Amino acid sequence: MTFQELQLLPSILQAVEELGYERPSPIQAAAIPHVLAGRDLIGCAQTGTGKTAAFAIPILQRLQGRVGKGHKPVRALILTPTRELALQIQENFTQYGKYLPVRTAVIFGGVGQTPQVEALQAGADVLVATPGRLMDLYNQGHVSLTGLEIFVLDEADRMLDMGFIRDVRKIIGWLPKKRQTLLFSATMPQEIAELSQTLLREPVRVEVTPQSSTVDAIRQKLYRVEQADKKCLLQEVLQDKSLTSVLVFTNTKHRANQVAELLNSGGIAAMAIHGNKSQSARVLALGSFKAGTIRVLVATDIAARGIDVSGLPCVINYELPNVPETYVHRIGRTGRAGRPGLAISFCNREEEAYLRDIEKLIGKKIPVVRADGPSGREEIEKKVSEPKATPKPTPKPARAKEELSRAPGQKLKLEPLPPLRPLPPEPPKPRRALRSDPWVPGRVVASADGRRGKRRGRTPET
Ligand code: AMP
Repeated sequence: MTFQELQLLPSILQAVEELGYERPSPIQAAAIPHVLAGRDLIGCAQTGTGKTAAFAIPILQRLQGRVGKGHKPVRALILTPTRELALQIQENFTQYGKYLPVRTAVIFGGVGQTPQVEALQAGADVLVATPGRLMDLYNQGHVSLTGLEIFVLDEADRMLDMGFIRDVRKIIGWLPKKRQTLLFSATMPQEIAELSQTLLREPVRVEVTPQSSTVDAIRQKLYRVEQADKKCLLQEVLQDKSLTSVLVFTNTKHRANQVAELLNSGGIAAMAIHGNKSQSARVLALGSFKAGTIRVLVATDIAARGIDVSGLPCVINYELPNVPETYVHRIGRTGRAGRPGLAISFCNREEEAYLRDIEKLIGKKIPVVRADGPSGREEIEKKVSEPKATPKPTPKPARAKEELSRAPGQKLKLEPLPPLRPLPPEPPKPRRALRSDPWVPGRVVASADGRRGKRRGRTPET
């Protein structure tokens, strides 16, 4: 399948080509014809599958015929749970619509509303919004939804997790009954399945890469490590200079701050991004990470939604999430658009149960690397496994003191950590052939509406 075969406008084809997209991703190939035909659609897909273009490209094509000066009411509304996602979606609309006269605006909370109101007053055909700010500006009379033609509910399951579903229902009540509706969700919890029944009319269902199948292009590694040794292990892993940009996940905001501070004190430029940070701090952290001025971004799950860094080589789970799907979401930040990726996870004794759930979900064991060397250092692993080479455990206080006294930029002295427990021999490393198709060959199902899936809890961001 090519983009030409999707009957797209030459101006969209040109924009897509300039972005270096060679062919539609499975969700794009499956969804675009239906959206162009005006059908309602449920897309079961997570970020990293190209789902934004799957709705943005056909929406732009549908809208472009009738835009112009003075056309004020919003014609397409994209409702998404986080500011980062909202910005990302707007950026995508701008990229794909580069040669079209379609105007987009984005509104989200945590910043002053004046520039957003001005953008709305200038006229926006496409409005990307988070629920809270949309409600604010709608109630103040700055947003008119009377001319709305297309409504997209993005990341519906996250809306539910983040407690936005009542706001979403309220917003839906403001929309004209006659419209096209698209709903995207990585999972299909009961509440979302029910919502979709009232929201959509005879929807087509398009599903790619089921939640449980971990993206194949991502190499996964696991370190078994005591909680107290995670700090040292992280610094050791980051000695690998090929890991140029690393997204580190923690389960809590507090831990995210701690880890970022630790890395900075060890000479590794890092910033934390989480829900307690101001919008400007989050933009700064993300911008610095994308620009490469910091090497490590430490994030909690909610703050990480919408982080799309092209070519991100590595994701580290400093802590394992208690919701197995969150693991799949996290590691999906690397290995995007077919690029190779590495996902490293640290697992302490208490997290063993989470690990079991994750392995059950992804349907395979995550290869274990010893806790005494960064991934890929088979040499060190071998040495340590020989009885003679077993290093003497370093007393922890001395190590901690060394960490604190090291000046920024000064290299961390590598002392191999003691093996934490006897490990079974490493399984043979699967050699992965390079794929010519950059997209994960996920199952793509397009059908009349159906439902499945069950709701799980979420990793708290405390
Ligand atoms: P998304 O799932 O929408 O967050 O997209 C994930 C990443 O894939 C983004 O960086 C997109 O720019 C990129 N992308 C989307 N569609 C394609 C395509 N057809 N070919 C290559 N990259 C794409």
